[in-house]
Amino acid sequence: MRFVNYKYNKREYLGVLIDDKVIELNKILVSLGKARVNSMSEFIGIYNDEIQYIENSIKGKEFETIPLVDVKLSAPIERPRRNVFCLGKNYVEHVKEVDSMGASGDGIPKAPIYFTKAINICTGDMDEIRFSKSVTKKVDYEAELAVVIGKEGINIKQEEAEDYIFGYTIINDVSARDLQARHSQWFKGKSLDTFCPMGPTIVHKREIPFPVELNIGSSVNGEVRQNSNTKNLIFNIAYIISDISKGFTIKPGDIISTGTPSGVGIGFKPEKLLKNGDIVECNIERIGKLTNTVVVE
Ligand code: MG
Repeated sequence: MRFVNYKYNKREYLGVLIDDKVIELNKILVSLGKARVNSMSEFIGIYNDEIQYIENSIKGKEFETIPLVDVKLSAPIERPRRNVFCLGKNYVEHVKEVDSMGASGDGIPKAPIYFTKAINICTGDMDEIRFSKSVTKKVDYEAELAVVIGKEGINIKQEEAEDYIFGYTIINDVSARDLQARHSQWFKGKSLDTFCPMGPTIVHKREIPFPVELNIGSSVNGEVRQNSNTKNLIFNIAYIISDISKGFTIKPGDIISTGTPSGVGIGFKPEKLLKNGDIVECNIERIGKLTNTVVVE
């Protein structure tokens, strides 16, 4: 199943996307005699173990549907309860491209490099990445596979990691390279408003074989920039969940963005950073395509 967050007639709804039609999630829950929810994180927290039951129940029932083209998708988890957890330098070819510019150095990490994006509102598919030249002059894209956590856990074994996953989505880990460098720590350069496009949907884990091996890429104005596969992750999803949960409780609705492959803008000579009017597409096989337009003020 695919889960979406959408606006329709100026109101916001959670939904299930089936082919190119949306069914309001709360109508499904009410039809099953279950409690309504107010956010995707709340839905995941309550219903993570009932997704198969919900999916089976839909098949036998008639629901009002809305064509996908008639709704405006928002980020599937628009307001994460906590910062988005991210990994830096988690594809070998990307490590090489950033090390070669002298941006960070140190080679292949021996342990996952964690940082977070402190995002108030995640940006939806077809929405704008917007920034001011007075704040940053070097903004870059990073297509990433994001894991949405389904249940609370701590000290999770790698063999059990998939049990803690709800599903998968795409994040563009938009990055202000000049701010990352100026402040040493990446927090500010990763957390500007509109710097966390996410979506277009969350694909439930039942639709994606584990371990996750999916083609991942990006393009800018139709020019392919990144092209890899998530099997090339240095630290894979099972390892990440096991490692990050050592002494640290992960919760339903938490989001882990697993890092970006090579082909980011600063990896090119000359650099190919984002400009006003650019259209950035991040794509992952079986999940979809996340498209955003750049507006420089
Ligand atoms: Mg990244």
